[in-house]
Amino acid sequence: MWTPARIESRSTTLDLSASDQGLRKVRQVLCDGVVVCNAVDAIDWADLPVQWELCEACLCPGCVPGGRVALRRTDSHVLILPDFTAMSQSDWALIEHAPPGWMASQGALSFSQADWKTFRTACDGAPYLDDIAPASTAELLRLYHFQAPRAFLPDCLSPTLARWELILCTNGHDSAADLVHLKRLFSDPSAFDGHDFCLPALESHTVSAFLDVLSIEEWPLFSSEPEPAIRLSDEIHFRLRT
Ligand SMILES: [Zn+2]
Repeated sequence: MWTPARIESRSTTLDLSASDQGLRKVRQVLCDGVVVCNAVDAIDWADLPVQWELCEACLCPGCVPGGRVALRRTDSHVLILPDFTAMSQSDWALIEHAPPGWMASQGALSFSQADWKTFRTACDGAPYLDDIAPASTAELLRLYHFQAPRAFLPDCLSPTLARWELILCTNGHDSAADLVHLKRLFSDPSAFDGHDFCLPALESHTVSAFLDVLSIEEWPLFSSEPEPAIRLSDEIHFRLRT
């Protein structure tokens, strides 16, 4: 996940003459120098999934497809992720509700509670922490799939089409057992009925898979415990309820 070190806002002027609105001053929010909201005052927070990346010819929500995000929270963080449920409804929805372009390169965003306060200062229409819905188990697993290397899972909404033959090995104690666990995480996300956020045991390490792609790619998976803590980022782990 993308845990930004720097959150800031700026004023800029957009040329909206293509929609007869002339020049318009807008506020933008940047994370680590990347514009994540290109016109915060024009965001329609009631239009779900919320469009964070608006058409720069008119700033009308819904004018262009994509740029949409879901806001969810964990015990400790606010997550900005694709709205997987909305995207999976149809081929049209997949494009219409697609996430912003920056999410493909930077990843889904993760804000600590303090960072979310900073973000809200820059983006005052954004909801308070307590008004953000908790992430469901299926959403956490979809996010896990979204973070898998694209070569391994070309379509993050189709986890059963993962290319298992690309995995060379893991660096856990028992690669075969790691793969059994990983395969369970790539079964139907709606089949699980609960999760608990957790911290990996101090004596554990992060187990990675190594993929046979152009250059060997390391993919961090979960902790090395018998019942692994599934890793979304250094700060966010969860276990599935059995
Ligand atoms: Zn437009």
